[in-house]
Amino acid sequence: MKKDTSPPSALTDLVERYQLVQGEPCSACGCQLYRTNMYQWPQPVCVRCFPGRGYHEWSDQVDALFPKQRT
Ligand SMILES: [Zn+2]
Repeated sequence: MKKDTSPPSALTDLVERYQLVQGEPCSACGCQLYRTNMYQWPQPVCVRCFPGRGYHEWSDQVDALFPKQRT
């Protein structure tokens, strides 16, 4: 099994499966995936800063695509 590179399809897969949008890198964590289905917020929020229900199940995939920033 090769796990050296993340194919672009991994990102697309997440976007489609969890109904996300890709946007500018989050200023806090660098993640480019945003939720569009959170009614509590006036604008899309980063999936990592505002994890939704069940996010822990696929957070590893997000971390792999967008390594956490170290401050
Ligand atoms: Zn974030």
